[in-house]
Amino acid sequence: MVKFETQVGIIGAGPAGLMLSHLLHQHGITSIVLEAKNRAYCEERVRAGVLEHTSVEMLRNAGIAHRLDREGLRHEGIDLGLHGYLHRIPFVELTGKAVTVYGQQEVVKDLISQRLSDGGDLRFECGEISVHDFEEDRPSIHVDKEDNVDVISCDYIAGCDGFHGISRSSIPPRALTVYDRTYPFAWLGILAEAAPSREELIYMHHERGFALYSMRAPRITRLYLQCKPDVDLAEWSDDRIWNELHTRLGCSDGWRPTEGKILQKGVTGMRSFVVEPLQFGRLFLAGDAAHIVPPTGAKGMNLAFADVHYLAEALRAKYRDNDEAKLDAYSATCLSRIWKAQRFSWWMTSLLHLFYDASPFDRKRQVAELQYVMSSRAAATSLAENYVGLPLD
Ligand SMILES: Cc1cc2nc3c(=O)[nH]c(=O)nc-3n(C[C@H](O)[C@H](O)[C@H](O)COP(=O)(O)OP(=O)(O)OC[C@H]3O[C@@H](n4cnc5c(N)ncnc54)[C@H](O)[C@@H]3O)c2cc1C
Repeated sequence: MVKFETQVGIIGAGPAGLMLSHLLHQHGITSIVLEAKNRAYCEERVRAGVLEHTSVEMLRNAGIAHRLDREGLRHEGIDLGLHGYLHRIPFVELTGKAVTVYGQQEVVKDLISQRLSDGGDLRFECGEISVHDFEEDRPSIHVDKEDNVDVISCDYIAGCDGFHGISRSSIPPRALTVYDRTYPFAWLGILAEAAPSREELIYMHHERGFALYSMRAPRITRLYLQCKPDVDLAEWSDDRIWNELHTRLGCSDGWRPTEGKILQKGVTGMRSFVVEPLQFGRLFLAGDAAHIVPPTGAKGMNLAFADVHYLAEALRAKYRDNDEAKLDAYSATCLSRIWKAQRFSWWMTSLLHLFYDASPFDRKRQVAELQYVMSSRAAATSLAENYVGLPLD
């Protein structure tokens, strides 16, 4: 058994865990980050791609936006589409703010590189983890690898290990309330080697199901099709995917997405999930460990950053001023923002997807709502304000 000491033990090297470790370092607080997967896996996992204005500001203030500022694609609006007709929601005109398209894997690369150059303790392929004594003053994390056990003794544990991690499930179920909704559809997503032929994202409502046109880099597009959750990918040849994308995304002005070699294919389930509270003793949950949003509102990674911003501020107040008020309020502070993001993500999802069992009345109502957002400045402003990110309190 080998023993280690740190102030904060962080489980998970996703956006939440890495950002927390970086922010703590800036406040002079030590941490050890424990990650189950290897570094390449973390750096190559293609997931989120839209950074809120609020997240970009956070990355800039934290001094890790050099590459983001060079390579990120600033988007000043999105297109909402209805049966091929597009209507632009101009974020900057409506809110004065924009979003930035920059892949989650690039954010993760930047954070890992910064932590390592700052001498950060990141342990990839760390082994099997368990958390102990988090109801006591000195909790610990046990890391079991090849018959050796490392014991990391710390003041606090941050569970940043995503939806399937061990942190949330280590808390007694009686202490947690779960709010959960599973949607009756999923997204079939592809990453294609094709230069984007439009500058902004298209969120298209179509009678065959929702489709999203987006991009990750100057030569890479990311496209999604609404599908059944139990879809068999083997039945979706590249040709079938492109044909369906052309059908759903084809615009009245003749625009179609440009085809390219499909580099990756996958199916993402759609779920809204929140656990309350985010704290149990000295174990704090952050990011996907505590909540999941359907990706329609592009909020997942952004919410993860907001959580760790509040946690880092709370730990700073504790270590600097011995003030625990922000730590005590951590869960409530995060939940206020989380539920607003949940509402927005649910609303965007409900607005744009085809509900297979919807009645004719519901379908008419849904189209009317979309037309309202496309025709009302007030409704468009509400969408824009939420999409670019509500300010951090
Ligand atoms: C297809 C898709 C598209 C998305 N699009 C968007 C978008 O456009 N915008 C947006 O904001 N969000 C989006 N999201 C959501 C976003 O990717 C997540 O919300 C984000 O990754 C959350 O970060 P996290 O650090 O909390 O968790 P994760 O990124 O899941 O990181 C958790 C880390 O913990 C590690 N881990 C897990 N268990 C253990 C363990 N037992 N021990 C040690 N380590 C462990 C994992 O390997 C992982 O590295 C999307 C997600 C998907 C799947």
